[in-house]
Amino acid sequence: MASLYLHIPFCEHKCIYCDFYSIAPKESPSEHHGLVERFLRAIKGEVALRAGEERFHVSYETIFFGGGTPSLLSPSNIAEILDTLSRSFPIEPGAEITLETNPGTVDRRKLKEFRAAGVNRLSMGIQSFHDDDLKFLSRIHSSDQAKQCVRDAYDAGFENVSFDLIFALPSQTPARWRSNLEQAVGLRPTHMSCYSLIVEPNTPLFRMVESKQVSTLNAEDDATLYEMTMDVLARHGFEQYEVSNFAQPGFRSRHNANYWNHSNYLGFGPSAHSFWSDDQLIRSAKRWWNISNVVGYSERVEHGTLPLAGEETLVSSQLIDEAILLGLRADGIDVAGFRKRYGAGFFDEHRARIAELERKNLAVLEGERLRLTPKGYLLCDEICLSLR
Ligand code: SF4
Repeated sequence: MASLYLHIPFCEHKCIYCDFYSIAPKESPSEHHGLVERFLRAIKGEVALRAGEERFHVSYETIFFGGGTPSLLSPSNIAEILDTLSRSFPIEPGAEITLETNPGTVDRRKLKEFRAAGVNRLSMGIQSFHDDDLKFLSRIHSSDQAKQCVRDAYDAGFENVSFDLIFALPSQTPARWRSNLEQAVGLRPTHMSCYSLIVEPNTPLFRMVESKQVSTLNAEDDATLYEMTMDVLARHGFEQYEVSNFAQPGFRSRHNANYWNHSNYLGFGPSAHSFWSDDQLIRSAKRWWNISNVVGYSERVEHGTLPLAGEETLVSSQLIDEAILLGLRADGIDVAGFRKRYGAGFFDEHRARIAELERKNLAVLEGERLRLTPKGYLLCDEICLSLR
């Protein structure tokens, strides 16, 4: 199964911690509108360029609009992109079609129109239910707007709604984070992604930390909040299927799962990444990525060339290392599936280490699948390194 990703590189305002490629309007509204229109023509042009290659005509089961803030686009923009995709590639009936949505950019009517355009899953960037946290993160919405956005989404007919929350904010107490989790589960999302705040280089937050304007939580306090996340969400029926991702039964993100199991995906738009292997037994694969500049991206496509910034060929040993990392971070490694996919054993080579992980309650063998326990997720990076 394969996936399609569309990177929509526009935001109303740049958040202090964000290092995704996106731009906020600097020029006049009409110039910005012109840039958006140019980008929309370019992304459809890029789809057409890729669709010219026969090997990409496989069945696609997920489409994901990420960014940036795709919900800033109009429903008719999204409908046109979906129409271009379905005329260019085979899209499965019932494909999962996700739109990253920021509260503060939509109302009930707009959400209804997104639903009518074919979007069937929303990934909402809520981040916190505390207004002072949202202000610190420089988000454009308030807690009340986030709650209203969720109610509007249900009213608009969405039955699959995911929330993104961020923990380990400076001086965040366990009580504050628990209140976020409880307010979130009270709104009955089908899926939650909970990420620890990362201080990325070249962001305003990085400079604030460097100049000691703010201090980050220490590793121990961060771990306490993460353990609380796993505990609270498990008690509310969420299954953890990746370090940061939790779903009600039947609502795991098929798009995310495809990334984590080395399925093929094509990415469109500035900075979008793609991954492709033509083989069932995956001994080599290509990864490529687009330039991170909306004007440069549009120019390239207008000249009929792919807007590539780089590419790499992954050989078998690299793919196996990645598969171990991705599998353990997600819902485990299946011994038979691993051999079939990568032509290599995993368990034979690591038998002693796996037994040790089980003894320490860091991992558990369920049938033929090795998965991390909640205690193991806490030490995920070290465990993955020890198995390479
Ligand atoms: S809304 Fe999302 S993509 Fe845009 S600046 Fe904020 S974190 Fe980054």
